[in-house]
Amino acid sequence: MTPVIEVSDVSMAYPGGVRALDAVSLTIAAGELVAIVGPSGSGKSTLLNVMGTLDRPISGTVRIAGHDLAGASDRQLSGLRGRRLGFVFQQCHLTDGLSATENVATGLLYAGVPRRRRHAAAAEALHRVGLGHRLQHLPHQLSGGERQRVAIARAVVNAPALVLADEPTGALDTRNSHAVLELLTRLNDEGTTIAVITHDREIAAALPRRVELRDGRLVRDTGGSDGR
Ligand code: ADP
Repeated sequence: MTPVIEVSDVSMAYPGGVRALDAVSLTIAAGELVAIVGPSGSGKSTLLNVMGTLDRPISGTVRIAGHDLAGASDRQLSGLRGRRLGFVFQQCHLTDGLSATENVATGLLYAGVPRRRRHAAAAEALHRVGLGHRLQHLPHQLSGGERQRVAIARAVVNAPALVLADEPTGALDTRNSHAVLELLTRLNDEGTTIAVITHDREIAAALPRRVELRDGRLVRDTGGSDGR
């Protein structure tokens, strides 16, 4: 199986000496859906930021689609993010005055997609997440669950190699959380590789692979070689 991301022996410290990650290694293959779990403060967001090239580790290596990030300039990293990665956060970070379609189209701004193609691709992504009937709605005209689905459409519009989601259901009620979980599972069935941080035990239990952090260490990995 082709690794999409290879994190090897990565450590991370913040000013003040907090060791947020301690020699963490994790490989995710194309087509996987991985839950990253662990108590608050265990290093989950730090790991996601390192995987998303938003933070550089103090030691260890990160490879995305075979590219070692260590020697990359900030400009190269942002290019790689635009082309290969999609992000979903707890808060959806949609732009207020823009329609659902325009918000999703912003996901293609840095990927070099010509303007006229951006809207067509955005509409297609919104259809994929079940919002084909909400293309022109503004964020305040959508429910919380619908806004998160727009954010997920924005993350997948460029067919990224890896989607990184940090507590995507953290601000949603149970019904909408389940809808988001179903959507992530379906996108994964359609071929999208996804790593998702979650506090929700029920959601974690429903995912095919779970990786657990404690005090910055990877203490458990249910494994990715289940033939998917
Ligand atoms: P989690 O996502 O599992 O809650 P984090 O990755 O956010 O954990 O944090 C891991 C550790 O690093 C915690 O002890 C946290 O307090 C610390 N930390 C996180 N971000 C910063 C920061 N910007 N500056 C200093 N310490 C931080």
